[in-house]
This record gives sequence, C-alpha cells and structure tokens, in this order.
Amino acid sequence: MKNLLNLFFPKVCEACNTVLADNEMVLCTSCRHQLPITNFHFENTEDVKKIVYGRVRLESATALLHFSKKGIVQQILHNLKYRGHEDIGKSLGQWLGAELATVETYKDIDVVIPVPLYKSKLRKRGYNQVAKFGQEIAKALKADYNDTVLIKTKSTKTQVFKGRLTRWNDDGAVFDISENKSLTGKHILLVDDIITTGATVESCATVLLKIDNIKLSLATMAIAD
Ligand SMILES: [Zn+2]
Repeated sequence: MKNLLNLFFPKVCEACNTVLADNEMVLCTSCRHQLPITNFHFENTEDVKKIVYGRVRLESATALLHFSKKGIVQQILHNLKYRGHEDIGKSLGQWLGAELATVETYKDIDVVIPVPLYKSKLRKRGYNQVAKFGQEIAKALKADYNDTVLIKTKSTKTQVFKGRLTRWNDDGAVFDISENKSLTGKHILLVDDIITTGATVESCATVLLKIDNIKLSLATMAIAD
C-alpha cells in the first residue's frame, strides 16, 4: 500500500522538492549534508544554556540545528508547523535521540516533556509540532514521555505581521503544571522547536521547578543565531 501511494504521490525532499529515494526520509541526501548541525551536545558547548543564564538553571541544553532566516532549517520547520508534515519532527527526534543516547549527561533523563500548545491551538492545528520529536527522543533515551503535567493556560497570538522571523520568536506564554507528585525527583528533558530569546523556556522552567527536587535539561530542534 505504501509503495502504491508513493507511485502516485511520491515523497519529495522537504527542502528542494526532488523525489526521495526509498532509503531517504524527509530530506534528500544532498540537503541532509547541507544542514547546519550544531554538535553542541558532543562538544559540550554552552550556547543554548547561555541564552537563559541567570534566569533558569539547566543541567544540560542543546539544539540539533542552527536556524537562520530564509535558510533550509526555516523551510523544514515551516513545513512541520504549518503544513502538517509531522514526519519531519519524527525524523529530527530519531536523529537527536540517537545522538543524546551516547552523551553521558543525557543518559539519566527520566521523562521528556514537550512545550505544550494552548488547547484551542492544538485543536486547530491537530498536532503539537514537537510531540513526535519528543516521543522519539524519549524512546531513544528509554525515558517516559509526558504531555499532561505541563499545560498552557493562556493563548498567545502569533505575530505574523512584523516580518518573517517574528513568528519564530518565543512568545512569552503562560504555563502551569496540572500536578506536582509524579515527577518529584526526576530529571526532566524539556523539548521545543526553536529557542530564540529563551522566554518560553523560562516560563516553562519556572513552573516545572515548583516540583520538588527535579533536574531540568533542554533539547530543541534549532537555535536562532
Ligand atoms: Zn533536497
């Protein structure tokens, strides 16, 4: 059935639209090699942590890719977020998950938590664009995936009128936790699509750190340079 569908609707590269080979997922080999990977987690680079220095204490923090305006990463994240191409999140999650599973500081992660969407936004989009990313990372780290404890309590409008990059900016959202028992003492990995100013991470961390004795780390698909 899958092959039959591919015959009529061949899968194409999310970046350059060439038809993908059977062994290629989401991106063609050429575009995959062009992706601006950070290697932060392998090189112990603190660029992601530095964004929230003095605001949030993170154990470890990384991003898979560098995000730049009009670049290939902007295009694939746009397709993930606005065009329903959830496979992109799955693929990035498998990729980063496999890498983090080899890094000592991520091996003791107990639970992966996605930055949540407000319920009406989730209903409208039909999926949280970081869900599959988080699920794949959890699988790779043999951790739980929890999308019920951290909740978004207020809608924040995406500003699309101030230029293309604005829609990717953190939106200073309001979050809360539904309970604080089940995660006591755990090492939590918060996951999001992109970190820019760190405002979203700061709001999420502020409520998560109400839970006794937790450690908090962060992994994102991309970091805005
Ligand atoms: Zn391509």
